[in-house]
Amino acid sequence: MISSDPSCLFCKIIAQEVPSTKIYENESVYAFLDINPINLGHTLVVPKNHSENIHDISEEDATALMQAGKKIASALKKGLHADGVNLIMNNEKASGQIVFHAHLHIIPRLEADGFHHWRGKEFSKEEIEKAGEKIKNEIPL
Ligand code: AMP
Ligand code: ZN
Repeated sequence: MISSDPSCLFCKIIAQEVPSTKIYENESVYAFLDINPINLGHTLVVPKNHSENIHDISEEDATALMQAGKKIASALKKGLHADGVNLIMNNEKASGQIVFHAHLHIIPRLEADGFHHWRGKEFSKEEIEKAGEKIKNEIPL
C-alpha cells in the first residue's frame, strides 16, 4: 500500500496526475527527468511512499532509492557517454531542498561542463575533531 500526500508535486507525478518523462519504475521507486536539468539526462529518483527527506524515509525506501540510483547512474554513463555522475540528495531548506518529497538527483557530468564543487572552509583540527565527537555520540549502536 503506497502512502501519498495529495498536495505533494512528486506524489502527483507518481500518480500520473502531473506529466513527467519516466526513465524507470519498480514497486518502490519512480524515476523521471528533471525539468530544469544541470546537464541533459539529469534524473530524479523518488520513493513511491511519500516522505519528506532522509530523516523520515524508511530504511527500505532509502535502500530502494540507492539501488535504483546505481542502475540509472550506470545507464547515464553508457547511454549518454557521461564522463562522471553525481548522486545528490538535498535535505531541508538550508541544504537547498525545494520539493519536500525525498529524492535523489542523478546528474551526468562531462569533463568540460563548467560545474565546480563547493570549496571547503578553514577550521582548526580541534574544531574538526569536536564536530566528529558530537556526531559519533548520536549514532545508534
Ligand atoms: P531539490 O532542490 O533537491 O528539492 O530539487 C527539486 C528538483 O525538482 C529541481 O531540480 C527541479 O528542477 C525539479 N522539479 C521541480 N518540478 C518538477 C517537475 N514538475 N518535473 C520534473 N522536475 C521537477
Ligand atoms: Zn510526495
